[in-house]
Amino acid sequence: MKSIRIFAPATVANLSCGFDVLGCCLDTVGDEMVISLVNEPGVKITKIEGAKLPMDSDKNVASVAVNALLEDYKKEVGIQIEIYKKIKAGSGIGSSAASSAGAVWAVNHLLGSPFTGKDLVKYAMAGEKLASGNAHADNVAPALLGGFTLVRSYTPLDVIRLHSPKDLVMTVIHPQIEVKTSDSRSVIKHKIDLKQAIHQWGNVGGLVAGLFTEDYDLIGRSLEDVIIEPLRSILIPEFNNVKNAALNQGALGCGISGSGPSIFALSKGLETANKVADAIREVYNNTGLDFDIHVSKINEQGIRILENI
Ligand code: ADP
Repeated sequence: MKSIRIFAPATVANLSCGFDVLGCCLDTVGDEMVISLVNEPGVKITKIEGAKLPMDSDKNVASVAVNALLEDYKKEVGIQIEIYKKIKAGSGIGSSAASSAGAVWAVNHLLGSPFTGKDLVKYAMAGEKLASGNAHADNVAPALLGGFTLVRSYTPLDVIRLHSPKDLVMTVIHPQIEVKTSDSRSVIKHKIDLKQAIHQWGNVGGLVAGLFTEDYDLIGRSLEDVIIEPLRSILIPEFNNVKNAALNQGALGCGISGSGPSIFALSKGLETANKVADAIREVYNNTGLDFDIHVSKINEQGIRILENI
């Protein structure tokens, strides 16, 4: 038996303007998993701590993603998965993605790395399909490749690793309320106005250019979402007050993380990110709601091995 313990990071998807295509990887928030190669063929979830999630391998995103990989690997293999959850499911910071991406990354490593990081995105997407009914890659791609990623195309899958300016720091607040995925989906319109589309793709281009040229002002100007945020933000208590507080403290931009309810703010430098955290905390202290706040630099590496067991 060969086992590794890994860190499977949380991720922030969409980044305001890039619905379903942009994402980035966090460093201080994530799950741990122990993945083992065993003699007995098949994929089993043997332990879950920290959350109530399905042990059934057809219902857990980690085993579903690994089975997608093994279908292409074609040789018979035995895998056991232990999940130590720290990222709450439904938080909007890639809880299911951490499990899907972590599991396929670890299995690939244990098998001697027959697949590339970009291949692994495809397998991890099978887990995302199970979690949300939609095989999106904007959380699994940054978890697997690290840094910022862009899904240029889904058909065929074309994922691009972007540059990460080293001073960017994320502040994330997770209000502990339940926003039903069905509600956050039902508020989105499936047809958009051409003027809004022009505005939005201008921002996507601006954000990508800003990341590569390390132009922090351009990054800030481009962190704007004229399509999804106006509709979804009404489901998140104090969204506008949090955003105003973050921008007043000097955040470059602020928006909904994934499908919410988490809210992210991106800042230049740790000092500003911590000030943003304090300001957001003050807004939420008045609500009586429970919440977590994370401050994290961008994780350039993605998933990493914590221990060879
Ligand atoms: P998040 O918005 O934080 O990424 P999702 O809504 O994508 O969370 O995923 C949560 C859903 O996926 C829940 O219905 C949960 O039961 C299911 N799920 C299945 N396996 C896992 C797993 N290993 N980790 C997290 N969620 C899982």
